[in-house]
Amino acid sequence: MSRNEKGTLVRPDPLPASASRPVVTPLSPAVVYASDTPDMLDAQYDGDLSGYTYSREGHPNADVVAARVDEMEGAPHLGVITSSGMAAVTAVLLGLTQAGDHVIGGNTLYGRSLRMMNEDLPRLGIATSLVDPGDVEAVRAAIRPETRLIMVEVVSNPTLRVADILGIAALAREAGVLLVIDNTFTTPASFRAFDHGADIVIHSLTKLLSGHSDVMLGYVAAKDPEINDRLRVFSVTAGTTGSPFDCWLAERGMLSFGLRFDRAQATAARLADHLAGLKGVKRVIYPGRHDHPDHARAEALLKGRYCNMVSFEIDGDRAAANALARGAQGLSFAPTLGDVGTTISHPLSSSHRALSAPEQAALGMTEGFFRVSVGLEDADALCAVFSDAVAAACGA
Ligand SMILES: *Cc1c(COP(=O)(O)O)cnc(C)c1O
Repeated sequence: MSRNEKGTLVRPDPLPASASRPVVTPLSPAVVYASDTPDMLDAQYDGDLSGYTYSREGHPNADVVAARVDEMEGAPHLGVITSSGMAAVTAVLLGLTQAGDHVIGGNTLYGRSLRMMNEDLPRLGIATSLVDPGDVEAVRAAIRPETRLIMVEVVSNPTLRVADILGIAALAREAGVLLVIDNTFTTPASFRAFDHGADIVIHSLTKLLSGHSDVMLGYVAAKDPEINDRLRVFSVTAGTTGSPFDCWLAERGMLSFGLRFDRAQATAARLADHLAGLKGVKRVIYPGRHDHPDHARAEALLKGRYCNMVSFEIDGDRAAANALARGAQGLSFAPTLGDVGTTISHPLSSSHRALSAPEQAALGMTEGFFRVSVGLEDADALCAVFSDAVAAACGA
């Protein structure tokens, strides 16, 4: 008779014993873990025994996901799973800096990362400079004695320019400054950041790695074990550990990541060429195309894996933009990326709406500018949808 059958205790015994094990990682929603004795708990906290204690401090589903991303990125220590990509950015920007420090960011970083650089770090006494990550001399000129880190993305959103990662990495090494790479867009399937000089790698797992738009999680890992620990401690203290269920879903999504990425990328290359041939399309931006301004750099860094994002511009105003979004039958008009379904976004009404007109113009952001995150649709069918949508918008 189990203790619980006596009806005296609330918590039942653990799962029935099984000599075989489940094929799928069990979901562990437990917030607390019971140890046998105070001695055992002491040994756990001292690190002499491994074992979970309280899920904000870590739990099995997070560690399973972290290990999987670690393996893809070649991270030397167990990475930290955070409740969102921005929580990973926050762990780096607030967990590794102090008042008086200076931080350099790429001027095309993700919008919220830019906001943290522009608003939050200065409020806390941390100076920031934003520079073009394609211009290594601009980065060099921004470095100060108190510069602590440089944070960049490999491919910019939504203009798909390619950063001079090798130049910046050499500069960071020379200056003794940490190089932080947000690898969300490129993913380790296209770009292994640690292999290219990154000291810290960040991901929004929300996007391509989970891939189904039903998980919000982030990841951060550092090459240096002491910095890796500081990131974990900050994330635990800030309370931004990812939830077990999100981690469980992310693990499931990541099982098919390689296949999804290959497929979406091959279709993106097809779609880019198809768009370039459509009447009404003024320009197509895809790093794999020879007419891309950074094609040579993309080729060297991404080794033929140019990712699933395509941007393009049509001739037309807001009415034409509305017609294109409406005309893209079966696709979601939504400001995200990396979903199994193709999504279309319009930076002027979403990510870049807060910029001034001259800033928008400087980035080439017009009413006719769209960004496409290519998903898993049949390539011919997808090209046909865009033919119809562009025709609807441009009156062809
Ligand atoms: C989405 C995104 C983030 C933020 O991730 P969340 O999971 O939405 O918090 C950070 N960086 C890049 C490049 C992103 O695309």
